[in-house]
Amino acid sequence: MHRTHHCGELRIENKGQQVILSGWVQRVRNKGGLLWIDLRDRYGITQLLCEEGKTNEDILKTARKVGREFVLQAKGEVLERFSKNDKMATGDIEISLEELNILNAAKTPPFTIEDDTDGGEELRMQYRYLDLRRPAVREKLKLRHQLMQATRRFMDGAGFLEVETPVLIKSTPEGARDFVVPSRVHEGEFYALPQSPQTFKQLLMVSGFDKYFQIVKCFRDEDLRADRQPEFTQIDCEMSFVEQEDILTTFEEMVKYLFKEVKGIEIEDFERMTYDQAMKLYGSDKPDIRFGMPFVELNQYAQGKGFNVFDQSELVVGISVPGAAEYTRKQLDALTEYVKRPQIGAKGLVYVKCNEDGSYKSSVDKFYSQEDLKAWAEAAEAKAGDLLLVLSGAIDHTRKAMNELRLKMGSELGLRDRNVFKPLWVLDFPLLEWDEETKRFHAMHHPFTSPKLEDMEFIESDPGRIRANAYDMVINGVEIGGGSIRIHDKALQQKMFKALGFTEEEAQKQFGFLMEAFEYGAPPHGGIAFGFDRLCAMFGGSDSIRDYIAFPKNNAGRDVMIDSPATISPEQLKELHLSIK
Ligand code: ASP
Repeated sequence: MHRTHHCGELRIENKGQQVILSGWVQRVRNKGGLLWIDLRDRYGITQLLCEEGKTNEDILKTARKVGREFVLQAKGEVLERFSKNDKMATGDIEISLEELNILNAAKTPPFTIEDDTDGGEELRMQYRYLDLRRPAVREKLKLRHQLMQATRRFMDGAGFLEVETPVLIKSTPEGARDFVVPSRVHEGEFYALPQSPQTFKQLLMVSGFDKYFQIVKCFRDEDLRADRQPEFTQIDCEMSFVEQEDILTTFEEMVKYLFKEVKGIEIEDFERMTYDQAMKLYGSDKPDIRFGMPFVELNQYAQGKGFNVFDQSELVVGISVPGAAEYTRKQLDALTEYVKRPQIGAKGLVYVKCNEDGSYKSSVDKFYSQEDLKAWAEAAEAKAGDLLLVLSGAIDHTRKAMNELRLKMGSELGLRDRNVFKPLWVLDFPLLEWDEETKRFHAMHHPFTSPKLEDMEFIESDPGRIRANAYDMVINGVEIGGGSIRIHDKALQQKMFKALGFTEEEAQKQFGFLMEAFEYGAPPHGGIAFGFDRLCAMFGGSDSIRDYIAFPKNNAGRDVMIDSPATISPEQLKELHLSIK
């Protein structure tokens, strides 16, 4: 028997018992006549004791040899500690060693295996299996496990069937590049890894599965970003005979259930906002509504008073920052610098301080009277003590910049509390998105998303105006999930492919199987997918999804532990009928 107990288990009630523990050496303290070893496993740490004169000489000799991270088996009696440690669950007891076996020696690890480690990110990723020994890291994966189990409980309870879909498939239309796998058997042909199981889950609806879900890996070859992984996990779902409202209700329940089960938090009903409102009020399709500061459009108050910059702008937009009228020159200069950074790209920042005495002080006093500024303040519902920040320019660009500034102000004022969760549905996304580069429309969600039928009249004249039955779930400014009601009619699907610039042959080659399936009785259906890694990070109060993935890739998409991607041998290349230039 390797052990009778684990290292987090023994208490004062076990005093006098003979026990066997196994684990790793956290540390050794050698105080001459006394030697302690802290033995660690997944469950905790227990102190082992050797005493000169009492403990057998051979055991003492072995104990003196062990170093950090050795794997030991220890037998002995549970003693009550002389000086107790109330910070440790096992702090009332220690084990007086009667037998000690070194199960495996260990090299000194390249960083300390403690929550507060001295190892840098790169080193820890290279030795991720050692990093994962740290309790704080393991706790994050435990949270992931809990979320996964709770998701399965909810979905099972709600009648969803978990069905696995294949990993070696062909292109799926989620707007990224595919990772491809060359076929050895079929020369010159390639599989693609799924960007999502989208087409398969729709086929399962045609098959009559009614409610499907899967916790599934997806692969997208996108440009690298800090919070992106080339492979990531989704909670992928699809339902038949549903309308948008059914989906919203079902998945609002799911997310409430997860918060309750995993975090013990009751979430109130989700706010809803159309895409247009979100863009107008927050300049973002994923607004953080933990705090206010909605945009207020000031064109009618600010234009025609001789200030050229505003007069020539498509949009003059402000936010009222509560209690910030006290901002100093230096702080305002810093904000101006911030919005002028190339990533934000504003030309300048106009401010209006709403002074406590009812007067206004602005950076454009030359052009505007106190009356004018009062009208701005009233439009923005700014009170005495508030600070109005105003940007201007082309609509989309200015909204984007103001979104950044609003988020920054929210953070500066401490209004983005990680322990507060404000979920929101963003509805009625546009169906199509114009791409300047390729000079054509792209599906904003994917090409199977159904348009709002009342907008279909614009399909020829003004396709950009068509709204979709598409929705995103946003929590605290993060897009947690998104989906749509699908097209289930072949003719409409063909029309969509055409609007997206597919020729009939292209559409047939890529998605013919789906369109054919629609000819054999497709039910109305719709679904959603949640970014599971992101959900974990949000539940854990972290910005990094990597912390919640056991073996993540780094910012350059590399696994530095197994050293991947890597070259393959000339023989392998030959078998795959590939040559590298
Ligand atoms: N397949 C979509 C995605 O991965 C989600 C959906 O429409 O259900 O974003």
